[in-house]
Parts: sequence; C-alpha cells; structure tokens
Amino acid sequence: MPLYDYICDACGHEFEKWHRMDEKAPKTCPECKHQKVRRQFKSPPAVHNHYSPMHPRANRGRGY
Ligand SMILES: [Zn+2]
Repeated sequence: MPLYDYICDACGHEFEKWHRMDEKAPKTCPECKHQKVRRQFKSPPAVHNHYSPMHPRANRGRGY
C-alpha cells in the first residue's frame, strides 16, 4: 500500500495517508476541515529521490 502525501491549500497543513490506489483520496483537511486538500508528490513510492525530501524548500509546497 503506497503512502501518499497531502497538503491543505487552506491552512498549509501537510499529512500522510496510507491507502490503496483504488481507494478515494481524502478530501478534508484534518486540521481546518476545509476541502482544499491536494496530493503532493514529494516522495513517489517507487522512485528514489536524489534530493532530500526534508529539504526546507521542497517541504513547503504552498505555491499559488
Ligand atoms: Zn487545512
């Protein structure tokens, strides 16, 4: 079961969730309850990153 990373666009809260690929992704932020959650791809399950996922700039996927 792959581990997915999510980030809330409303409050910037990041969280991880294990679920099957055919399962529905979470839509609600556990922190602020807004439905602004989107997937992050900072650590793809089958691919090794050649940069550190703990890098401060890679860690904060706020964007637009
Ligand atoms: Zn939130």
